Amino acid sequence: MAAEIRASGASDAPEAGTVLVTGATGYVGGHMVARLLSEGYRTRVTVREPGRAAEVLALVRRAGVDREDLLEFAVADLSADAGWAAAADGVSHVLHVASPFPVTPPENEDELVLPARDGTLRVLSAARTAGVRRVVMTSSFAAVGYTVKPDDRYSEEDWTDPGTDGLPAYHKSKVLAERAAWDFVETDGGIELAVVNPVGIFGPVLGPRLAASVTIVRSMLTGGMPVVPLMYFGVVDVRDVVDLHLRAMLHPKAAGERFLAVGGPSISFLGMARTLRAHLPAAADALPSSELTLEQMREAAKTEPALRDAAGLGGRIPVISSAKARSVLDWEPRDVTRTVRDTADSLIELGLVTLTEKP
Ligand code: NAP
Repeated sequence: MAAEIRASGASDAPEAGTVLVTGATGYVGGHMVARLLSEGYRTRVTVREPGRAAEVLALVRRAGVDREDLLEFAVADLSADAGWAAAADGVSHVLHVASPFPVTPPENEDELVLPARDGTLRVLSAARTAGVRRVVMTSSFAAVGYTVKPDDRYSEEDWTDPGTDGLPAYHKSKVLAERAAWDFVETDGGIELAVVNPVGIFGPVLGPRLAASVTIVRSMLTGGMPVVPLMYFGVVDVRDVVDLHLRAMLHPKAAGERFLAVGGPSISFLGMARTLRAHLPAAADALPSSELTLEQMREAAKTEPALRDAAGLGGRIPVISSAKARSVLDWEPRDVTRTVRDTADSLIELGLVTLTEKP
């Protein structure tokens, strides 16, 4: 994997000083740190507790990157002020990736909204005080396209209305955090902001802790989703999400802009299962082969909160544009089929999924 990271436009002469990454213990953050180190960036990462540094090192090693000499750690939690000033001190750019993304929604939405929104403001405030040039924030398509439009076509011009009926807490946390970030820079200035809005992120995993998105693939491969909801979503590769952050960090035209990160046309759960079946015939029996109808979903959503999102979307097929990232930042994401296959292969390689063919 390291060779692949280097082949994607690496330079031995970083155009930034020390880069601070939040959320490095996570899926996107782990890939982000590996890529930065492989390109020779001095990289500081925040972890919530000092003992968590080993987790980041394990992710970086798994990516095949051996530049730990460039890695520094700082301790800070999005929910508290402590540590952010020290984390940002001497930093030229911040990649603010961290945000709570639990597999199961919490009972109280503030558990997500407060760390996402107030944590973002803590990061921005510390960064501005430290004289950081630019912050790139990982937002989400959740902040763009969850207030359904009649034509179902979405670009960076679109915003999810946080008051949308039935909007899940995670989506609300992302839209409120991104709004707060733009308000911060527009009101007070003094720092550049660029935002990346990825759709569902898939692609190789680097460790046993799985992001909410990747649990879908594991669940499908292990027979945990015998029937799937009728729902279409965008897919983007984690390596391309990282690549887009780096372009947004460096490109002069990225300041003040948001960029949708999407690898291709939206796919359905069943379409994802078909791709997996074609790639891994040994998983055929475990993989879902049918989907709920809309009526079945609406009925099931009455007792199953996890289906409310899908039922509310009513089988729509969102058309999500990557034109801006492609044209402004020359971003070229890989094919969605490859991303789905690589997700599965990495889960198997790490022993997180074992395929058992029926005799
Ligand atoms: P992940 O693997 O769950 O990582 C989340 C990261 O955020 C972890 O490092 C976590 O740290 C950190 N974090 C959460 N709460 C925190 C807090 N209170 N203080 C400090 N750090 C905290 O999820 P991911 O997929 O990598 O997500 C990374 C970013 O991408 C998030 O902003 C997410 O909203 C966004 N995103 C993800 C997807 C997707 O499909 N995966 C799609 C669009 C956008 P701990 O290890 O300490 O918990």
